[in-house]
Amino acid sequence: MASSPLPPNPAIDMPTGHPDSSHVAPTAPAWLALTETSAALPTDTDVLVIGGGLIGCALTYYLARAGVEVTLLERGELNRAASGTNAGSFHLQIAIHQLTGLEVDSLADRLLTEIRLYVEGARLWEELETELQGSLEMHTTGGLMVAETDAELALLHAKQRIEADAGLETHVLEGAELRSFAPFLADDLKGATYCPAEGHANPLLAAPLYALRASQAGAAIRTNAAVHSIDIGTQGGFTVHTARGRVRAARIVNAAGGWTNEVAAMIGQHHPVRRDGLHVNVTEPRERLLTPLVQHIGRRLTLKQASNNTFIIGGGWPSRAHGADGGYRTVWESTAGNVGVAVRVVPALADVRLLRTWSGALAFTDDLEPLVGASRRVPGYFTCMATTGFTLGPLMARMLAETLAHPAARSPLPDHFAPDRTASAAPAHP
Ligand SMILES: Cc1cc2nc3c(=O)[nH]c(=O)nc-3n(C[C@H](O)[C@H](O)[C@H](O)COP(=O)(O)OP(=O)(O)OC[C@H]3O[C@@H](n4cnc5c(N)ncnc54)[C@H](O)[C@@H]3O)c2cc1C
Repeated sequence: MASSPLPPNPAIDMPTGHPDSSHVAPTAPAWLALTETSAALPTDTDVLVIGGGLIGCALTYYLARAGVEVTLLERGELNRAASGTNAGSFHLQIAIHQLTGLEVDSLADRLLTEIRLYVEGARLWEELETELQGSLEMHTTGGLMVAETDAELALLHAKQRIEADAGLETHVLEGAELRSFAPFLADDLKGATYCPAEGHANPLLAAPLYALRASQAGAAIRTNAAVHSIDIGTQGGFTVHTARGRVRAARIVNAAGGWTNEVAAMIGQHHPVRRDGLHVNVTEPRERLLTPLVQHIGRRLTLKQASNNTFIIGGGWPSRAHGADGGYRTVWESTAGNVGVAVRVVPALADVRLLRTWSGALAFTDDLEPLVGASRRVPGYFTCMATTGFTLGPLMARMLAETLAHPAARSPLPDHFAPDRTASAAPAHP
């Protein structure tokens, strides 16, 4: 158990309705009008953002708010790829992959920097409903990361010490303390780390609301405008060829998520980004049982009960690629495996019916670090991509917007996020 006192248990101390940190009363979703997204493309722009997911929409909002002339081009409709298909969890606790290699000092330092960024990302989300003036169904309910074995419990203790050093509040709970704090967990679990700042929001709301506010702040946002090719100007700047015509841009930002490399290849670049399909499942609604987000330190699980009382079950189970362009099919074995872990951890789910399973395309780097900043090889070309991008995407977008709005100032972005850190020219035979 950590030395600081355990905070109030939201399941016990906030018994009415869904414990909720919303600062803004729920409102009807506000969407950008079709007349805006289908209007003619501007002929010229300062910054052109490619990709209308959470990161592209957030970046466009922060740039427009800073007075930068900005255009966003999305090849389909806004928020239809990873940003609208994800599980909506705020992941702040250290994940198991981050604990490998910690004996190397530079990695330990890097991990501390990362956790501090995640804490800052969580703070941004806390203020986002007020900033964007609309409900995102924000629930700062806390999160539990469970351990099934003694070895996993030892990892929980190890990571708690690092989290404390980085300023992230977590508590390791065991035995009777865990049973009374989280009576819905299986009795034989060895322990869990509780992080009060974790929680979730509705991924269907955030990117569209950012886009609406960006447009109101002066940004041009156009859909069904796939970028097909990019010419680099001899005097600087770019000519971007799209499904709906041509735009000249002084600077471009690649915010194409799982398609980052397809866009990078248009200017002869290649980034260390790969794409994979992941599952999410949703059940029928049931009486409220679960307040915090639940994760597992050693197995693939994220579990939460949404505002409408359905359970959302994810955690990175794979789906199967079909077609060349990032489509993914659900896989029964993944659904079964995912809900199997959920029932193992929260046995009361055993008789809850699953209603729907879907998959989305996740972009990730081999080191799972974001790829954000200016290219050193192609002046005026920037990238903004994050793997845990629902949690961290808005912060990455805000930091890049600061860099773009104030090019002479020192960038707030950590050096090891640099897109060129292992970039190379596009492979001849991809
Ligand atoms: C199933 C699943 C569950 C996840 N769960 C979580 C979670 O719980 N918590 C968390 O923090 N993260 C989670 N993530 C990760 C998170 O969803 C992503 O990191 C984040 O949404 C990335 O946002 P993005 O804007 O970069 O990418 P996307 O949302 O994928 O947007 C990229 C956009 O670029 C467009 N585009 C591509 N090529 C072009 C082109 N040539 N021209 C124009 N537009 C183009 C695409 O159409 C797309 O709309 C999950 C991801 C998946 C797939």
